[in-house]
Amino acid sequence: VSATAYADRDRLAALWYQEVERFRAERPESERLWRAATPHLPDGVPMLWMAKWPGPWPVYVTSAAGAHFTDVDGLDHVDLCLGDTGAMCGHAPPASVAALSAQLAKGSTFMLPTEDAAIAAELLSDRFGVPSWQFTLSATDANRSVIRYARQVTGRRKILVHDYCYHGSVDETFATLDADGAVVERRGNIGAPVPPSETTAVVPFNDIPALERALATGEIAAMLIEPALTNIGIVLPEDGYHAAVRELCTRYGTILVIDETHTISAGPGGMTKADGLQPDAVVVGKSIGGGIPAAAFGMTAELAQRARDSLELEDIDVGGVGGTLAGNALSLVGIRATLSEVLTPAAFENMTARAVEWTAGVQASIDEFGAPWQVTRLGARAEYSFRATPPRDGAEAAAADDFELQQYLHLHALNRGILITPFHNMALMSPATTSGDVDRHTVAFREAVESLYG
Ligand code: PMP
Repeated sequence: VSATAYADRDRLAALWYQEVERFRAERPESERLWRAATPHLPDGVPMLWMAKWPGPWPVYVTSAAGAHFTDVDGLDHVDLCLGDTGAMCGHAPPASVAALSAQLAKGSTFMLPTEDAAIAAELLSDRFGVPSWQFTLSATDANRSVIRYARQVTGRRKILVHDYCYHGSVDETFATLDADGAVVERRGNIGAPVPPSETTAVVPFNDIPALERALATGEIAAMLIEPALTNIGIVLPEDGYHAAVRELCTRYGTILVIDETHTISAGPGGMTKADGLQPDAVVVGKSIGGGIPAAAFGMTAELAQRARDSLELEDIDVGGVGGTLAGNALSLVGIRATLSEVLTPAAFENMTARAVEWTAGVQASIDEFGAPWQVTRLGARAEYSFRATPPRDGAEAAAADDFELQQYLHLHALNRGILITPFHNMALMSPATTSGDVDRHTVAFREAVESLYG
């Protein structure tokens, strides 16, 4: 529990038990399915992440459309989690579903290209500025692939990341700084292959002198970053930070990789387009297939050529980049349809307007009850944290963590039919999210803050 944490732990515990009782009473069907699943699924879930939701058992879903889903107890929910961005388009977006259904009936995976591949790549090029694209099934795998190419073409070993970054299950990225500034394993890192200090250098977000020291070693193949941190709360770049990142990476021969998987919330081409950033490679995943597995990495023409020139055709299939289903026809038609018909510039305007409303609603309750919290927005996504001012780097954001308080707020929301992104206090708006959906959160959030500070 951090120094800034909520002080009245007895009150918090009492409120928590009240919400747990309500959840138990209202979710008997989820309980039944959970008990039935447990013999064959650890904790009753197909991936242990899903056990980290607040409450005694997970909520089992029956169906979803747009910004809402219904659970097996027949309860309607406003989904502000949206599969932690996997369903950013809203659930079952009709244009994506139509294109995906048609492709499914024609075959989905061939290890051969379809016309959609080049069209999807062109759409991504228009948005993110880099011309040369490859496709994977997850953002994790796209990051992993770019890192490998960067090592290959630079002949260097290390990757540079921001402290408290998250880029998927990429071995090199589970590194953090200890109190003395040494690179150590991130808490909870499962079965690390080697100590992360062997593969990774770490700098605080927004710290230009630390960045220059790390790059000047000449050891860094790639700098892999989110342009704003979004996985430890939202941490925005200070003026001039990205210009310095670009300039220093160029000066020291390091490949700059921008992971836009979450920051695509800033607009159709993410922060890369919105802020005129100039990466050597871009990664984007989760949302772009309209709800099915699809991700991509794009490279400048120069980087793509260097990577291609370094490979022998004979070795390509066992070289560490690729995957049997990567670039399959279903993913590609999903990306084509989703980018051209769902995640359009007009859709982003609506999504951003809803996030502005959500942020104002949260701020109003913070102000009314004097909670020492702040809320930060990045386009269609926003997040509050338990500190009075926006964090400047990941360590500051992490220090504001209060797991029990977060669990209470999430369960309070869930009991009122609102799903907030787990592991965060984050809300994401889809093209289908309405002002009425946002109001539902605003009302429930006010009630929760009142219960704590009123
Ligand atoms: N990059 C970023 C910035 C992410 O937030 C995540 C997941 N939260 C990933 C990559 C990995 O995505 P996936 O789990 O779909 O591979």
